Amino acid sequence: MAFVGDVHGRPLRNLRLSVTDRCNLRCAYCMPEEDYAWLPRVDILDFEEISVLVDRFCELGVDKVRLTGGEPLLRKDVERLIEMLAAKPALRDLAITTNGLLLPERVEALRAAGLHRVTVSLDTLHPDRFRALTRRDGLEQVLAGIESVAAAGFTGTKLDTVVMRGVNEDELVPLVECGRDVGAEVRFIEYMDVGGATNWSMDKVVPCDEILARLAAHYGPVEPLETGEAGAEEASAPADRFRLPDGTVFGIIASTTRPFCASCDRSRLTADGMWYLCLYAAEGTDLRGPLRAGASPEELRALVTGTWNARDDRGAERRLAEGPRTPLVPITDLRKDPHLEMHTRGG
Ligand code: SAM
Ligand code: SF4
Ligand code: SF4
Repeated sequence: MAFVGDVHGRPLRNLRLSVTDRCNLRCAYCMPEEDYAWLPRVDILDFEEISVLVDRFCELGVDKVRLTGGEPLLRKDVERLIEMLAAKPALRDLAITTNGLLLPERVEALRAAGLHRVTVSLDTLHPDRFRALTRRDGLEQVLAGIESVAAAGFTGTKLDTVVMRGVNEDELVPLVECGRDVGAEVRFIEYMDVGGATNWSMDKVVPCDEILARLAAHYGPVEPLETGEAGAEEASAPADRFRLPDGTVFGIIASTTRPFCASCDRSRLTADGMWYLCLYAAEGTDLRGPLRAGASPEELRALVTGTWNARDDRGAERRLAEGPRTPLVPITDLRKDPHLEMHTRGG
C-alpha cells in the first residue's frame, strides 16, 4: 500500500467526508447560535466529484472513510454515494456518524448500499435534556434508530457521547447500560473547544480521569485494554478502551486533556471540497478548484501528497500546552468562514 507521511511520520489513512453542512439538530456544543452562514450550493461537490477525490486519496494510502456532516443522512440520496464508495476495493472500512434521527427510515437502505458500520451520537436518555441540548424533539426516534442498526445486521456499532459538566455527567452508567443492551460500544468524548463550541469553557469539560473514576465507583475496577484486544482498532484510533468487571467494553476520547495528535492519521474533506489536516486548522486546501478546472489524477495526487508531506499539525496538543483556554474561534470569525465550524468540518 502507498505510504505518504507527514513531517512527524504520520500516514495519510483516515478520511472524514462531510457530505453536508446542514443539520436537523442544534447541539449546544456544536451549533449553539441562532443563525448560520451555509456553504453555497453551487460549491457542494456532487457524488461523482467526491468519488474521484476519494480515488486519489485511496491511491495515496487512505483505506478508511467516514461519512459525516452536519447530518449526513440529510444529504439527498447519500445511499448512492455509499454504493459508489463501497465498490472501491481499497476501502476496508466505510462508516457513518449520524445523530440517528433519520435512521429508522434509512437503515435498511444504508445496509443494502454496502455501508460497513454506524456510529450514533447519543448524549442523554432523558427526553427533556435531549430537547434542551439539541433544541429539537426526537430522542425516541434516535433510540428507535439505534435499535434499528443491529436489527439491520450491522456490527461494530458505536454510541458517541459528549460529556458536559452540569448536563449529562450523571448519565455515564445508564449510557453504558444502553450500549450493552443494544450491542454497541459507548465512547465518552471530552467536550472540545473547537469550531462552533462558542460556549465552551474548561470547567464544563469532564476529564477522562473523572469519567473513569465515576464508572469505577459504580462498577468496580476498570481495566485498560491493550491495542488489538477485544476487536480493538489500531493504535491510531482516538479512543482509549476499557473493560468493566462484567466484560462490557467502552471507550474514552480524551481530546481535550490527553490529546492523541502523535498518532493522528485523520484528515477532513468538507462538502465543498476543502481539505483540512487537523480539526483545529485555520486554513484548508482547496481541492474543488483544481478538480473542476480539470486537474489530472497525477496533478491531484501531487497536490495531496505535497500538502500531507508538509503537515505539522498537532492542534489539540498545542492548545493544551498554551495554558488557560477560551473557545478557539470568536463568533465574528465563524460568521465570516463557515469552514471553521465543526458541523462543516465533520467533527
Ligand atoms: N451530525 C452527526 C452527529 O452528530 O453524529 C455527525 C456530525 S457531528 C459534527 C460529529 C461528532 O462531533 C458528533 O459525535 C458530535 O458529538 C461531535 N462534536 C461536535 N462538537 C463537539 C465538541 N465541541 N466537542 C466534542 N465533540 C463534538
Ligand atoms: Fe449535533 Fe451533529 Fe448536528 Fe453538530 S452536526 S448539531 S453534533 S447533530
Ligand atoms: Fe489530529 Fe488535529 Fe485532532 Fe490532533 S487536534 S488529533 S492532529 S485532528
